[in-house]
Amino acid sequence: MIPMKQTGQGQGTQVKVDLKDAETIRCKECNNYLWIQSFILKKLSALVSPSGQEALIPIQVYSCGNCGKVADGMLDGSGVENESNFPSLDI
Ligand SMILES: [Zn+2]
Repeated sequence: MIPMKQTGQGQGTQVKVDLKDAETIRCKECNNYLWIQSFILKKLSALVSPSGQEALIPIQVYSCGNCGKVADGMLDGSGVENESNFPSLDI
């Protein structure tokens, strides 16, 4: 048995945030500010998967509750780009 080292501190630091100072993210398309939680599913092929098996990776994003547009920046690094003006790249 390996003893688990437990530091005595929990989540002690509470940061007080005034939400009035926080920016409300609005949809750039329709100015709506309510978002729906949704997921992009990425399928990792067995060739590049660390487990050597095909894997599904869910990436949580928020999409506009009105027009469905995914919030800006949420798609960064996901490999999902704006469909328009996306250059076709055949490897
Ligand atoms: Zn929208």
